[in-house]
Amino acid sequence: MFDVLLTTDRTMMTNHHGKEFLGFMATGPAIGLPEPIWMWICAPKMRTDDLGRVWQAPYGMRKIESVLINAGFNVATVDPDHLDKHLKHAKVLLLSHHDYFALCPPSSEWWSITKKEPVNAKSFRKLMDRRSIREAKRRGLKIIAGGPAAWQWLWKLDKWIGWDVDTVVDGEAEKIVTDLVSKALNNESLPRYVYVGIDDVPKLEEIPTIKHASINGLIEVTRGCPRNCRFCSVTLRPLRHYTLDMIEQELKINVSEGVTEGIIHSEDVLLYGSRSVEPEPNAVIKLHELVKSYYKRISWSHASLSAIKRAEEKYKLVSKVREIICDENQDYWGVEVGIETGSVNLAKKIMPAKSAPYPAEAWPSIVEEAFAIMHDNNIIPAATLILGLPEETEDDVMRTAELIDRLRPYRSLIVPMFFVPMGHFKTQDWFTRVKVKDEHVEVMKRCFYHTVYWADDIVSKFYLKGSVYAPLRWLIKLFLRYAKWKIRAVERKLEVGKIVKKDY
Ligand code: SF4
Repeated sequence: MFDVLLTTDRTMMTNHHGKEFLGFMATGPAIGLPEPIWMWICAPKMRTDDLGRVWQAPYGMRKIESVLINAGFNVATVDPDHLDKHLKHAKVLLLSHHDYFALCPPSSEWWSITKKEPVNAKSFRKLMDRRSIREAKRRGLKIIAGGPAAWQWLWKLDKWIGWDVDTVVDGEAEKIVTDLVSKALNNESLPRYVYVGIDDVPKLEEIPTIKHASINGLIEVTRGCPRNCRFCSVTLRPLRHYTLDMIEQELKINVSEGVTEGIIHSEDVLLYGSRSVEPEPNAVIKLHELVKSYYKRISWSHASLSAIKRAEEKYKLVSKVREIICDENQDYWGVEVGIETGSVNLAKKIMPAKSAPYPAEAWPSIVEEAFAIMHDNNIIPAATLILGLPEETEDDVMRTAELIDRLRPYRSLIVPMFFVPMGHFKTQDWFTRVKVKDEHVEVMKRCFYHTVYWADDIVSKFYLKGSVYAPLRWLIKLFLRYAKWKIRAVERKLEVGKIVKKDY
């Protein structure tokens, strides 16, 4: 039995059938399908051993697990379905989440539009409401919550107090978690809230490599981002690139535990090894050769559109990387990219360095050119843009709508997100349903029609092709058909005045 447990709810403790993008569905409520089927699509159960230890776990939890194992603690990362039996003995429970209360985009937006609680928040709430946790608390269990969504507890004090969470850790926890867990095990008093500032983040040599497989083989290659977008919290962290040796150790762990496909995680994969916003072609090529020598199929977590344009324009780097990635095992790869806005004026105010080394005035054309480069190289982006940014004007929003039209020829998904106060903007107001204006609805409609236009093609020809994915493919196409029908029905009602925009 274990003294220290790491866990999270089902929407996080899942590999989404090995298809990371399906995890996006966990940010919404079940729509057009019964919730159990919705959950099966986006969050199937994770394989475990007899003790309930998971085969794959979220990468950040694996890092904390590794720190605690190195420090000599008796620790395990367990599946939520096996948590109850361990709680009878455990003394500390560590939680992590990307979106505990569905406050991040796009969860907050789906909740606002549909008025239904997204399945990620619902699933976490059910986990925390378990009687086994309440009983363990009465026996003295200490609960420490962290992860990328730790900031959300500050907005949910009723839950923090109601569930009796002892400590919330906001930021990179590698340097402080050992001390916290020691205190918890020794029944010493714990701080209620720990913010890990820039001076407390671990240096590269203080970040251990993972000891067990990460979900979908995700391996981090860089922490931090140099672009300083004002709405982003990542940029508040210093830039650190993992060495190829560290990366190889993590690849070996995943492959030795049967995970042979994976995601390269960085805020900007094409800036791996760079100290500026100029790509380092040799570093990027070596990285991909290394990862591809272990994984059959790889994808990127994130890349910036300006780095994609620069890398191809100056170094033909995207084409070179394609030659490494695409082979008999894969013919495309996915990535998340941020459009944020189609307005030059707004780009200059909120993200002046996002376009670098090009000027902010070139932002809309950078987006278009990067989309064309990705389309030609079989990269399928899931792009996001932000509605309701501080200082946004009607004209800014319409520039975004026009840009979406110009992106129509390029295979991609585009998801609009409502502004959430983070980074330098963390004291600003949330963008909520009541602030939605006609021009925002126009952007949402254009994103919707762009996405359903390409989703069919992506699902059938790339993402879920082959007989093994036939049931999933069928269900997703069913959902797309339902979503199209629903939007058209709303539009018809708007036209004949049966509803007004605020009911949209
Ligand atoms: S480029 Fe992306 S990760 Fe970097 S600061 Fe801007 S939004 Fe954040």
